[in-house]
Amino acid sequence: MIQKDEVIILVYRKSNILNNQFKYVDFKYLLLIIDVQQLVKWRDVNLTVIETKNLTYTYPTGAKPAFQDVTINVEKGEFIVLTGPSGCGKTTICRCFNGLIPHFYSGKLEGEIIVCGLKVAEHPIHELAQHVGMVFQNPENQLFALSVEKDVAFGLENLGMPREEMRKRVDWALNTTNIFELKDRAPHELSGGQQQRVAIASVLAMQPEIIVLDEPTSFLDPLTAQNIFEVINRLNKELGITIILVEHRLDLVCKYVSRIIIMDRGRIVLDGSPRKVLNSEEARLIGVGIPKATRLYQILRNKGVDLGRVPLSAEEAAKIFLEVLGNDRN
Ligand code: ADP
Ligand code: MG
Repeated sequence: MIQKDEVIILVYRKSNILNNQFKYVDFKYLLLIIDVQQLVKWRDVNLTVIETKNLTYTYPTGAKPAFQDVTINVEKGEFIVLTGPSGCGKTTICRCFNGLIPHFYSGKLEGEIIVCGLKVAEHPIHELAQHVGMVFQNPENQLFALSVEKDVAFGLENLGMPREEMRKRVDWALNTTNIFELKDRAPHELSGGQQQRVAIASVLAMQPEIIVLDEPTSFLDPLTAQNIFEVINRLNKELGITIILVEHRLDLVCKYVSRIIIMDRGRIVLDGSPRKVLNSEEARLIGVGIPKATRLYQILRNKGVDLGRVPLSAEEAAKIFLEVLGNDRN
């Protein structure tokens, strides 16, 4: 007998959920379908997937820390853009999320970092890699197999996954990133945008909770970059994967993201919603790429014209202008 207002939790295997085989179905009762691993994590870490406290890191050759005193909480399902001037420590922080620091790069790591409930310092890179996928700037460095399909299967082979399940996972990852038709091609023959999709499919096949992408589009033209952002956005909105994207092209990404973190000289200086962060004077002074529409809003406001709402894109600005014109009775 189910009582009204009861929460029923069905526990299923994670792969079934990520493959989208279940959906919310019950309208009378709240029906949650989650997997055992998640249930344990939710109990333990309360939906926080990354937690750092006063994290500071210095490379072995570094005279001063590459970043310092970084305290952040990332909740499951967030889409975060991390940005800031070159050399401010973005890549170095990403290296902590999957354990490259401190397990591959030595040096001095101070403070705390917990990822998916695991203390990074106490768990090896290969274990963390099952929770955090990494995509880098240059996809060529990540692809080495003779075919796209083999590249995407590589991580799963290392886990010793049975053939049949591996086949399904690889096909699913290729389809989700829209590159199934490229599966027999050699990765080095593909365009930069296609290669970056292969790199994303390779980490997606591992079904990680978090995907970290470090300037994945910096070698790509704006249109190809836009396509990559759309794939990333789908992973976030449809599969619930937490995304941390290091990116300069804020005008292209801010419509997708829930939060922007800006770093400067090794420290986090701004952290909040895109509208709040991009409209701040500090963001402009640091020199991050404020979207043109947001900048126009600021210039008009400084001249005494307040449009009432901060636009993040040309489309939003056009809508606001049309509203203003619509209200004008003269
Ligand atoms: P960003 O990704 O924001 O451009 P990085 O994290 O690459 O910044 O660099 C932060 C600081 O750490 C810089 O001063 C850079 O020179 C230094 N750094 C980065 N990688 C290494 C490394 N492998 N060894 C020593 N110093 C490094
Ligand atoms: Mg970098």
